[in-house]
Amino acid sequence: MNISLLKKWFRELETVGADHGGGVTRLAYSPEEDAMFLKIAGFAAEMGLNVSEDCIGNMYISFPGREGTPCHGIGSHLDSVPQGGLYDGPAGVLAGLLVMEEIRSSGLDLPVMTAVFRAEESSLYGLATAGSGVAAGSVDIAQLKNALSISGDSLYDAMSSKGYSPGVCGLEKMLDFTELHIEQGRVLWESGLHIGIVTAIAAPTRLKVTIHGRQDHSGATPMDLRKDGLCAAADIILAVESAGNAEKHHATVATVGVANVRPNALNVVPGLVELRIDIRGILKDSISRTVKAVKDSVRAASDTRGILCDVETISSMDPVSLDPSVIRSLSRAAEELSVPFRQMASGAGHDTMKIAPLVPAGMVFIPCKEGISHNQQEEADLEDIALGARVILDGIRLRRSNNTSDDCSK
Ligand SMILES: [Zn+2]
Repeated sequence: MNISLLKKWFRELETVGADHGGGVTRLAYSPEEDAMFLKIAGFAAEMGLNVSEDCIGNMYISFPGREGTPCHGIGSHLDSVPQGGLYDGPAGVLAGLLVMEEIRSSGLDLPVMTAVFRAEESSLYGLATAGSGVAAGSVDIAQLKNALSISGDSLYDAMSSKGYSPGVCGLEKMLDFTELHIEQGRVLWESGLHIGIVTAIAAPTRLKVTIHGRQDHSGATPMDLRKDGLCAAADIILAVESAGNAEKHHATVATVGVANVRPNALNVVPGLVELRIDIRGILKDSISRTVKAVKDSVRAASDTRGILCDVETISSMDPVSLDPSVIRSLSRAAEELSVPFRQMASGAGHDTMKIAPLVPAGMVFIPCKEGISHNQQEEADLEDIALGARVILDGIRLRRSNNTSDDCSK
């Protein structure tokens, strides 16, 4: 793998949307995301590769003569969160280019392409994995129009203003898809491993709990006459933690990320409290048990304290299992390279979850320093990106050698 080329690419990209704090801001459909796409297209052109764009600006990079033919896809995204890091997204795109460079320079004949998706973070519009979702046909125009920024413009408007015609783009023909991504958690970093092979991507279920406590004077209201909304919330918050702990062996997690307290004043017994709860897992049954335990705790808090508490499901997505044959081939590739690895779930969402329903899909994780991501301090080792790219390339070769009937094997 050509590490010096990878270094050169990263050096050229680090100025795009650079923040003072060391990170980058490259929001979906901003001039900075556009500039990233232009840079990647430039790298591809220097390698003599072919670049095409779909109806919303997702980019596909192929070997000349392979355009439009089914290939093994590798890729990720180029947008970032505000004040994000350099590696979340671009690592996976450059891994694709690195694999193609290896194929090109060693004279291999392997149908591989790099897919570069728009608007994965989509931080301004709140609709994550929008680019891959449109390509895969699971995000429609209505959803793009409903994805609004605080200034009121939609993701649909953002696409149209760039001259794109959002509609049904259709995913470029792919035999399968593999995404390299930084883990964005601490599992690999803490264990000292350089490779993780993802078996499933967790999906979030989101709940909103409204606690109708009674707002009272904090000095004049005796303890036994109170209907303290925040105390009921405290019972529920601890129950959410217990519900997550009870399912942790299934990699399910439960978090109260938002607590709005009214009136939030020092001398007032809290009245109305709103909690927002995020539950994620890779097993539907485990997610359901956690949701039930949380809902039971809301009912219990309501009964015990005599306070009306409502719970509402805001959204619920299904977890995505990745393809067993891709997982197997990536694992075998790592074994043959004598690279220690672990199979693991992804707690965060990725473009791969949009592609997985269409073609066999897999993911390779590499560590990021101290698990820090969505942060200007995000850091990953280029050696790990190159190693992950090698595992992906060898995985493709292994799958092809096991599948000689593949009509693309020429
Ligand atoms: Zn990402």
